[in-house]
Amino acid sequence: MKVLIDNGHGVETPGKRSPDESLREYAYTREIADRVVGKLKIEGIDAVRIVPEETDVSLAERVARANQAYMEAQKQAILVSIHCNAMGSGQEWMPASGWSVFVGGNASQNSNILAKALAQAALNKKIKVRQPSSQVLYWTADLYICRKTNCPTVLIENFFQDNEKDVKFLLSEEGKQCVTDITVEGIKNYLKTK
Ligand SMILES: [Zn+2]
Repeated sequence: MKVLIDNGHGVETPGKRSPDESLREYAYTREIADRVVGKLKIEGIDAVRIVPEETDVSLAERVARANQAYMEAQKQAILVSIHCNAMGSGQEWMPASGWSVFVGGNASQNSNILAKALAQAALNKKIKVRQPSSQVLYWTADLYICRKTNCPTVLIENFFQDNEKDVKFLLSEEGKQCVTDITVEGIKNYLKTK
């Protein structure tokens, strides 16, 4: 099984940063993507970033890369897209906080299982996990990357880049390890079910 890791946005993307500019989503998600790929490889899991560039690669190109890799892996691949959430326009600190995971509206059974495994890993960390209801661990949304990819795909929103407390946590070593470990443990637990 091949694990494809996507990281959000690019250096030239407007917005997508904390109001104090201490966190920029493109840079942060690339750092976490590197950590996730590194940890998965140590565990003997084949993992690769599909957007190694610093620039913003279009969603259509990301999907094309993921679908190509899925085909090359004989349909034995999953995709995890790493992002940070935002409530406002990035001009001011906002109240929304916490971690969440999404699947597309046309999600396959395996996408749902993967999302559930990731949310369970997050709940195990005793962090704030945003859920649509107490029974449902993950969100369903019309997300291009989830809708257009052929492999099981989820999108993680690692806390809020416009919440002051979340940003402080995200930028701490503890926070970086936390969001990395959630992703790695969730993927590993999903792979155990296969
Ligand atoms: Zn994003």
